Amino acid sequence: MAMPGLAGGRGGGQVLRPLLDTVCAALAHGAGERGGPLPGGGPDAVAAQVARALGDALPRTGTGDHEALSTLVHAMALGAADPGDPLCAAHLHCPPLAVAAAADLAASALNPSLDSWDQAPAASALEARVTAALAALVYPDLPAPDALVTTGGTESNQVALLLARERAAGGPRVQVVCGANAHHSVQRAAWLLGLPRPIVLDTPAGVLDPAAVAAALADLPGRTLVVATAGTTDRGAVDPLPAIAAITADRGAELHVDAAYGGPLLFSQREAGKLDGLQSAVSVTLDLHKLGWQPVAAGLLAVPDGTALRPLAHQADYLNADDDTEAGLPDLLGRSLRTTRRPDVLKIAVTLRALGREGVAALVDRVCDLAADLAARIDRHPALTLHGPPAISTVLFRPAGATDEQTAALRRRLLHEGRAVLGRAAADGQLWLKATVLNPHLRPDDLDTLLKLTTEGTTAR
Ligand SMILES: *Cc1c(COP(=O)(O)O)cnc(C)c1O
Repeated sequence: MAMPGLAGGRGGGQVLRPLLDTVCAALAHGAGERGGPLPGGGPDAVAAQVARALGDALPRTGTGDHEALSTLVHAMALGAADPGDPLCAAHLHCPPLAVAAAADLAASALNPSLDSWDQAPAASALEARVTAALAALVYPDLPAPDALVTTGGTESNQVALLLARERAAGGPRVQVVCGANAHHSVQRAAWLLGLPRPIVLDTPAGVLDPAAVAAALADLPGRTLVVATAGTTDRGAVDPLPAIAAITADRGAELHVDAAYGGPLLFSQREAGKLDGLQSAVSVTLDLHKLGWQPVAAGLLAVPDGTALRPLAHQADYLNADDDTEAGLPDLLGRSLRTTRRPDVLKIAVTLRALGREGVAALVDRVCDLAADLAARIDRHPALTLHGPPAISTVLFRPAGATDEQTAALRRRLLHEGRAVLGRAAADGQLWLKATVLNPHLRPDDLDTLLKLTTEGTTAR
């Protein structure tokens, strides 16, 4: 067999081009055959389809590039829950922009690794500039904010708690205080980092109550990190950041804001006001693989000043020997806990350049408008109950009069039939269906179809 071709080098583009034709054809064929937001038949049917396509996962002899791509890309597309389909709206799982996916291909072909300059000369320079620009979006009034590129909100929250732990090094351990509405990764990060179990405040209204934060801080003598959320995973709610920032400042506590979902509202002049108070945070988590239309992964952790990242400094002679650093080679190891690291910044940079801030803002505004439209249609619908107006782009609703069991069963039935992907969320002691609107191409017809699917055949009386 001929030597497999390489993606990089002078000939890489030519080797890739025909393979991409095969990939694009398999994507189109798979999506067409699926004919909906996800494959029908449930987990057993999908597993059987994948097993049939795959056959022996480690065959003795290979089938060749085109056959392998064609078969397995087709199987993945056929069996995908495709966020590009209008009726796939369960999670903070966005349809990636084609331009971002194309840029990600270049990242794979060039394969820079951001653990040392000699593996990523341009990628590291690009990352420095793009992260500075995005950090300035979060902290516009500060001279030298910075941001790390992460794998997402989970890693960003982990690093945020790690930085808080290190700021308190030598003293009592940091106590994290968060709401019951906070993302589960906050608890896990505290566990991973050996911090005391977080104090979790009730959030019956879906957001942190500043008075409850004040009361909790009054009882805590030591170092405290309050974690607020800007865009909760369940309903997109934004904690009252200005009031919480005032309380944390008053009590000498620190504030981290998990804006994994809501952070990109900053691109939009119309929506950015929802994040007032963000600038008071010692760190801010934001994800561009949610409201940023990037393929996974595209996470960020912004800090008010680059010096806040010093605790991450680390040395490994083969990557950042002192004499290399002194001679002017950038030291990248302190910009992540990972070593080998993909240039996720390339697709972000390409997207920002291609769309501009206004272009991204238009997408943000569009999905917020669509969510408001969906909520209005639900509110008017006699057979559906709306939880409340969406804070960002998440809409909770349920068939009127249905029990929690019926609501959960309806969601599973739509999944099993391959007709719609809706999420679920508990709020106010009830189970709700969750539509997370992230697809800017949705049309009013699609919203009606979604509602039709959730009302026809419900057993609710
Ligand atoms: C999605 C989400 C996270 C986790 O982010 P990942 O990118 O999935 O790691 C953290 N916090 C909030 C509020 C989220 O919505």
